[in-house]
Amino acid sequence: RVGARRTPAHHYSTAAVLKGGSTPLKVPLLINGEFVESESSEHVKVICPATQRVLAHTPIATKREMDAASASAKAAFPAWASTSVSNRTRVMFRLQTLIREHTEELARILTMEHGKTIDDAKGDIFRGLEVVEHACSTTSLQMGETMQNVATGVDIHSYRVPLGVCGGIAPFNFPAMIPLWMFPMSTVCGNTFVLKPSERVPLTTMRLAELAIEAGMPKGVLNIIHGTHDAVNFICDDPAIKAISFVGSDTAGAHVYQRGSLNGKRVQANLGAQNHAVIMPDADPRAALSALSAAAFGAAGQRCMAISRVILVGEARTWVPVLVEMASKLKVGPGSQAGVDVPPVISTQAKEKIERLIASGVNSGAKLELDGRGYPVADHPTGNFVGPTILSGVKPNMELYQTEVFGPVLQCLEAETVDEAIALINQNPYGNGTAIFTRSGAIARKFVQEVDAGQVGVNLPIPVPLPMFSFTGSRGSILGDHNFYGKGAITFNTQWKTVTSNWKLVEQEMTSLAMPTMG
Ligand code: NAD
Repeated sequence: RVGARRTPAHHYSTAAVLKGGSTPLKVPLLINGEFVESESSEHVKVICPATQRVLAHTPIATKREMDAASASAKAAFPAWASTSVSNRTRVMFRLQTLIREHTEELARILTMEHGKTIDDAKGDIFRGLEVVEHACSTTSLQMGETMQNVATGVDIHSYRVPLGVCGGIAPFNFPAMIPLWMFPMSTVCGNTFVLKPSERVPLTTMRLAELAIEAGMPKGVLNIIHGTHDAVNFICDDPAIKAISFVGSDTAGAHVYQRGSLNGKRVQANLGAQNHAVIMPDADPRAALSALSAAAFGAAGQRCMAISRVILVGEARTWVPVLVEMASKLKVGPGSQAGVDVPPVISTQAKEKIERLIASGVNSGAKLELDGRGYPVADHPTGNFVGPTILSGVKPNMELYQTEVFGPVLQCLEAETVDEAIALINQNPYGNGTAIFTRSGAIARKFVQEVDAGQVGVNLPIPVPLPMFSFTGSRGSILGDHNFYGKGAITFNTQWKTVTSNWKLVEQEMTSLAMPTMG
């Protein structure tokens, strides 16, 4: 038996972290339906970004433990794949009910470990919940194709069959939504799963895993390992794992894509972003700028769809002072406090990086319109706070512009025309999301047609698709040709099996060895 100590699923609860004791919680692994304390002596600290309190220790799982997780997923696969699709779906129905019932508690855990505000944490959970709801439609989504009489008396039907064991590697910035992009769609299709949450925010995922077990997910269908590089490489290399879902930064994503692909696995990898909004002079200034402020500074800019760059076109170039006025009214503070708009960033290292990049922008000639560095927050002197920051006169050759800042920093660029704005966006190496604010249908349509990005918003700042559509990406924001959720998730999580049946000629001898043709 693997693991230092086994805790029956119903005895373990991540919610204990909310009691706020001084002893950090030991984050367990989930192997074969049991929450197990790791035998490892190495761990990563889970640190509350607002207070620096060590909430938990994420173990670096041992090879033996990861092997056990994969073996349990492999062993569970045949029975789960042949469980009726309705019964697999029923687990998702129960999971969606449980997530709804536990949203408050999940949000408090999420805010503690990640830092984002409680309302934003609820949004993170809700956008994941919608994917679970979508997974409840698998009874029709996973249907195959059929055709009678492809030759006289010969029929073809194609099934979408599960792949086997799938793996998931998650980032820190959406502790609920992104794990919920991964395991529900995969398991409802009949796969079993080995998930590696971000070592920095594992608690929300663990609570979701408890709910999945409570919802009736059978032993071994969902397994959780923890760690950093070795756990990632394990998922890339383990022969039992057939497909990998990755969301995170470019370096890690390129590594996972290459290593996983070399091992013959399917890989879907969503990477970094530098999203631009375009504000046309015919837009309603207050509506457009308030949407922009929310998209730039919400979650302290740590969303892959955050708007971190705005291109002000024509007359809109004079609107920066309104933006500054709006941004300076935002309340910076701990995510747990009511009324806070801008929470802390994830780590002291992230704060240092953001502040260094702001300085580099200033040093290379950008104008600092609003400076959020060294932002003092009463009662939270040690939090990783960076206030809303706005720089104007930013140019594409600046290091600031060329780096994914992932903080509450809005870079303002200028253009004479919408064509110039589109060209700027299309020159950027990333193509995750973008948005335009205008009252002109013709300009909006031109933008939608010509801009190269996976998600495009028209008078809408963060156009994250609902789960009946897929979350995509273009150019540097994606590797692989598969997409998360929507129909893309069914394609990614299944393979075709095509059966050709001949019931007319069962007793007739084959008389020719030539390649059979159907006629
Ligand atoms: P990250 O790459 O540091 O971590 C993601 C995962 O990869 C983690 O589980 C981590 O343990 C692992 N990892 C980290 N470095 C690694 C390495 N060198 N080799 C192997 N594995 C490694 O990403 P993060 O900081 O947690 O998340 C933020 C990033 O994720 C941003 O770049 C953001 O744009 C991106 N993101 C993209 C999307 C999208 O859909 N495009 C969504 C959310 C986040």
